[in-house]
Amino acid sequence: MEVNRRQFFKICGAGIGASSLAALGVAPEPAYADSIRHFKLANTREARNTCPYCSVGCGVILYSRGSGGKNVSQNIFHIEGDADHPVNRGTLCPKGAGLVDFIQSPSRLQYPQVREPGSNEWKRISWDDAFKRIARLVKDDRDANFIERNDSGDTVNRWLSTGFLAASASSNEAGYMTHKVVRSLGILGFDNQARV
Ligand code: SF4
Repeated sequence: MEVNRRQFFKICGAGIGASSLAALGVAPEPAYADSIRHFKLANTREARNTCPYCSVGCGVILYSRGSGGKNVSQNIFHIEGDADHPVNRGTLCPKGAGLVDFIQSPSRLQYPQVREPGSNEWKRISWDDAFKRIARLVKDDRDANFIERNDSGDTVNRWLSTGFLAASASSNEAGYMTHKVVRSLGILGFDNQARV
């Protein structure tokens, strides 16, 4: 860079002024390491999952705190799109981006409940009781209503009095297995948001 005589004196004047300000104590305060905000995802546990809202099935990463040790409960505090997921490549729509509120909602259902016939109250039951109850009711209803042949004598093997709704967040493999189980029982009323 070429500097003429006038420019040279200007540069020298600016340098002297800056060092004088520092000498007078009006220079900026030094920054200390303890004032740095730590990266919020440091020391967290990651779990990959699928957004449960719609059939697009975007991949998400759930970040939680907690060591995972006995008597330590994990707390999911941040969710973001999974950049390695082939469906969404890290993006999420506003619904998916707000998933953490759904997880932490005080009205979120976290355990099985039953409302007995004639009752207007929901009662909490254990997972074991829920599975036993579902199995019992499925068996009883299928035994009572399974149709082997139609009026013409053709084999139809259908069960029309029970339906099945499956989750949109299922993987291809889970969806395939769900389809096989439901159809093998003879259920025709079957839907899945992901259109298995
Ligand atoms: S993030 Fe949005 S588009 Fe993706 S699965 Fe969830 S609701 Fe559907």
